Amino acid sequence: MWNRNEQTICAISTPQGVGGIAVIRISGKEALAACKRLAKSLSPLKKIVPRHAYLSEIFTVIDPGSDYKIDDVLITYFAEGRSFTGEEVVEISCHGSQFITQKILESLIQSGCRMANKGEFTFRAFMNGKLDLVQAESVLALIESQSQASAKIALRQLAGHVSKQFAEQISELTWCLAHIEASIDFSEQGIEVVNNNDLIKKLKNVMLNLQKIIASYKSGKIIKEGIKVALIGEPNVGKSSLLNLLLQQDRAIVTPIAGTTRDAIEGDTVFEGIKFSICDTAGLRETQDLIESIGISKSKFEASTADIVCFVLDCSEKNWTNSLMLAAEQNKTKQIFLLNKADTIEAAQRAELIKKIDSRNTLLFTSALQPETRRAVLLLIKASVGNLEYLNEAIISSARQHEQASYSLEMIANSVQELEQNIGAEFVALHLKEALVSLQKILGQVFDDQILDRIFKDFCLGK
Ligand code: GDP
Repeated sequence: MWNRNEQTICAISTPQGVGGIAVIRISGKEALAACKRLAKSLSPLKKIVPRHAYLSEIFTVIDPGSDYKIDDVLITYFAEGRSFTGEEVVEISCHGSQFITQKILESLIQSGCRMANKGEFTFRAFMNGKLDLVQAESVLALIESQSQASAKIALRQLAGHVSKQFAEQISELTWCLAHIEASIDFSEQGIEVVNNNDLIKKLKNVMLNLQKIIASYKSGKIIKEGIKVALIGEPNVGKSSLLNLLLQQDRAIVTPIAGTTRDAIEGDTVFEGIKFSICDTAGLRETQDLIESIGISKSKFEASTADIVCFVLDCSEKNWTNSLMLAAEQNKTKQIFLLNKADTIEAAQRAELIKKIDSRNTLLFTSALQPETRRAVLLLIKASVGNLEYLNEAIISSARQHEQASYSLEMIANSVQELEQNIGAEFVALHLKEALVSLQKILGQVFDDQILDRIFKDFCLGK
């Protein structure tokens, strides 16, 4: 499927648009030769030292006679085998004008390169054995990271920490499978190749390791995508005010008029390295207004898909009966109560209000008018999500890896059961093979077009 003599590719690796500089990347056998055709000061015979920046003028090759200079650029060359893609790579740093980058690309294409497909540089890195599929996925995760924590776990994946964990389980499973298959071959001669108990012990150990990796996905996904928070409650309790405070910007309109927020309003904020995606929703109440009722349905949807629901109550409101009935309809495991407008009551009144709420619930007195509320609310949300602190361990954040690892675990569990019940070794081998292939797919030791499409479809051009 992959041909090492594939054509040399080029693309702009920096974002589209205007910028101080832009970087054009070229990869393939002809990378340096194509670049030299444009760069006058890099004469064909000049020896180019890898990883050194060369200042050069770049000329268009559309009309060689016209000497049309495009830009002054910096050129860096990476030798085959010592580049991101594993191929000969050249990076041209030019001025970040769309006109200049387009002209350089046109000239490279005239010199024999072709435009790269989305993610093709990373794809080539994978095909050339520079990265496994976990690392390829981490490249995308790193590019898309929006917080310190998400960048950190992606960097650890890229450095191979997660791959190592999977590789160890693959090696254990391969050993088990080889011994099971040998025992099938020798069974007629009555030779016992491996003791069942030893196999079970080994497999249970692999299961334990896989369970740990699978469990890390919950945190990994939250760290990668951010904690999804929904602010829910009756109209006028201060949801929009809290949203604005948490986002540190005037995102939602705040008025004393009930029913102002009719549509869900979302925004992101980063606190202590973690991203929070916060959604202010239409206040829950009976209404004849069509638009508002659609907004209320959306609120319920937002609450159902959030990691944490902050149910907001108004401390200055005497009657909470309706509010608490609405709160009871929500999923309790992820709900916390924010007792807002706490600035309007005396400290002594707080104890009375607390009694109204079931003591098993987590609650916090807040005031959207006080800046310190932001920290208190975000800390409580973070703590309510669970343990996000094991950033130093290998954490997975890809749904694909989670699916495959879970399937592998299921297959190993089947084979352990079959070994324990002394069911034929053929069945055990069958399930172990499935488990092994699943893990191999995670790293890309086994792959097909479907797997590659799933991974590389989300990449941008130039990566
Ligand atoms: P929402 O309908 O739940 O989004 O409520 P809003 O954020 O629009 O607030 C309704 C009214 O309550 C506005 O007049 C806000 O200024 C006021 N408000 C919101 N939070 C607080 C708070 O913590 N303390 C006080 N005193 N007033 C608040």
